[in-house]
Amino acid sequence: MDEKQLQSEFLKAFGTGTEPVKAYFAPGRVNMIGEHTDYNGGHVFPCALTLGIYGAFRRRQDRQLRFYSLSYPQAGIITASLDRLINSEQGGWSNYPMGVIWTLDKKAGIQLPGGFDMLVYSHLPVGCGLSSSAALEVMTGLALSDLFGLHRSLKDIALDGQFCENHFINLNCGIMDQFISALGRKDNAMFLDTNTLDYEYAPLAMPDAKIIITNSNVKHSLASSAYNQRRQQCETALAQLQTVLPVKTLGDLDEDSFETHKKVITDPVCLRRARHAVYENRRTIKAFSLLKSGDIAGFGRLMNQSHVSLRDDYEVSCKELDYLAELAWMHPGVIGCRMTGGGFGGCTVAIVENEHVESFIAQLGAKYKGRFGIIAEFYIVEPGDGARAIM
Ligand code: ADP
Ligand code: MG
Repeated sequence: MDEKQLQSEFLKAFGTGTEPVKAYFAPGRVNMIGEHTDYNGGHVFPCALTLGIYGAFRRRQDRQLRFYSLSYPQAGIITASLDRLINSEQGGWSNYPMGVIWTLDKKAGIQLPGGFDMLVYSHLPVGCGLSSSAALEVMTGLALSDLFGLHRSLKDIALDGQFCENHFINLNCGIMDQFISALGRKDNAMFLDTNTLDYEYAPLAMPDAKIIITNSNVKHSLASSAYNQRRQQCETALAQLQTVLPVKTLGDLDEDSFETHKKVITDPVCLRRARHAVYENRRTIKAFSLLKSGDIAGFGRLMNQSHVSLRDDYEVSCKELDYLAELAWMHPGVIGCRMTGGGFGGCTVAIVENEHVESFIAQLGAKYKGRFGIIAEFYIVEPGDGARAIM
């Protein structure tokens, strides 16, 4: 969809008006390595995608809000008011933009002077771990800052999106998704220290290979309860380590100090969770330096190790993701493959040499369907830029 089509869809939904229609984009993301490290004080290594969410906006003279998504035509135009910013079931997807408005007030004391109409178009699959929710929050945050002259920086917009997700949507996520959606850079991945929010880009332009995301098309319901349980187990392990080591987070430990002191962690399950958090963070640091030195093969090996650790120590994979990863590891021309995102379904990410891309998609698709009766989807993606105004 280009700007013209977006504008014409907007006018079809909301009719003509005197104020200008403006449009914005924010990307989804894929995390190359560093999974479940963002709430353990560790590093992550995501890139923004060229796939993402578009929004067209027009200011209103009154205090009404009107939302329409081309992805949810059955919901029709959802209406609300600036005087009643609440998370409601009827609000459906509009809870995300509502939450961003609410966050501006709660966190920064900013009240919008008037309402707006908003149309959404997306080519980002929903709910499969490519972070459509973060893209929606960041796109809305950027739009409101620009439309109303709020001067929020991209970093503010990312933090506002996380605040919205944590306190309005009530999902206790880390900062990675919003941060990379706001600040991604074409042809680059971002090495982000989630403790300090310091970040550095590393080129991920690979002329001989493609990044392929495979959507398992399964979503297991355990995801959010298991997520909270993992957080808890890591906290328990950290508290025990803190009786012998001056560390603030699991991300402060290296492999040696973990191995030397791990015996203070009394519960074997908590020990494995902590081992994942420590080793995954160290792998992410190594992956960043390997990529900078052009060692894509070494980077791929770390991706494979990441999957094994998520499967065996952190136990957030599932049989569908494991099968997709195993098929990828056996396929010629695959440099690395792992599950990506929170787990229990969602996607894998693989780096595949150009001449093997076609057979990768054909063979994995057929074998996966043969085993589980489910059609996997494949996206050949490129690292794209972060959020921006498009007209
Ligand atoms: P993920 O972020 O992994 O895609 P989430 O469950 O966190 O999955 O977020 C998905 C939610 O984000 C959807 O249920 C919907 O409310 C909102 N959303 C995503 N894409 C769109 C869209 N194109 N239009 C409207 N809302 C969307
Ligand atoms: Mg999400």
